[in-house]
Amino acid sequence: MANPPLSILIIGAHPDDADIKAGGTAAHWCAGGHKVRLVSLTDGRAGHHAMPGPALVKRRRAEATAAAAVIGATYDILAHHDGELDDRLENRREVIRLIRSARPDLIITHRSNDYHPDHRFTGLLVQDASYLLTVPSICPEVPHLAACPVILHFSDAFTRPCRFEPDVVVDIDDVFDRVVDMLHRHESQFYEWLPYNAGHPEQVPQGDVARRAWLAGRIRERIEPLADRYRDAVVQTYGEDRGAKVRLIEAFEVSEYGAPLDAAARARLFPFLPHDARADSTVVTRKWADEPAGVDRP
Ligand SMILES: [Zn+2]
Repeated sequence: MANPPLSILIIGAHPDDADIKAGGTAAHWCAGGHKVRLVSLTDGRAGHHAMPGPALVKRRRAEATAAAAVIGATYDILAHHDGELDDRLENRREVIRLIRSARPDLIITHRSNDYHPDHRFTGLLVQDASYLLTVPSICPEVPHLAACPVILHFSDAFTRPCRFEPDVVVDIDDVFDRVVDMLHRHESQFYEWLPYNAGHPEQVPQGDVARRAWLAGRIRERIEPLADRYRDAVVQTYGEDRGAKVRLIEAFEVSEYGAPLDAAARARLFPFLPHDARADSTVVTRKWADEPAGVDRP
């Protein structure tokens, strides 16, 4: 590899968010020899109708570790209680330390508008950490970063106060089975809690093979609308021929609080995207911080 491996930090609220929202793209990075670290800020203890918290935390930690291992990534589960994450200062400091320790080339996380408070606060904590990553006197026990990395957001369907807008789209057709393999490891979620919470636990088939096939169908149904919803971006990225054929994608939006995703950054961070499209791509710099320091950035 000509360049050193990338360090990718994918920060979700729960011990399956990172793989649900970015597992296919993570699989592309891992296949290229890059380092992917999946993180859950909460321990997932609320995600079951029958299993008590401490046992569930242990089970979900094992499930997440197995899911990450499918693609050669790692999974860190932090100790915050599921359903109770907030934006207190000690949590922001923890996120600053986490990001500085990982020294990532790229961070992906939730947007801060979302139905789940844990997702919202995860997005907010990363947002609030972003500038402070570079300030030496904040959390001086962990060396500060010279610059904030690029920060992307997972796709979502929420519209208020603003819709998700895709700045990066990634074809995951050829790694979809890896994504299903990852999610298949989260047994407590996809075969127990989520069907129960949705009111249809009887739909889950018996047996490992039948369950996996059922899950693959459910995941495909959930992801499939994205490619048509963002078809223009898919065609821009992959060209007319391939762009028209792509069925399954993951999509990401640039955070204006991280570094801008210019053409050079896009080429470096997404080596598996087509080269020509990268060179021709529009620079995404929806970013107040491009103004000189001391003007809009006192
Ligand atoms: Zn979640």
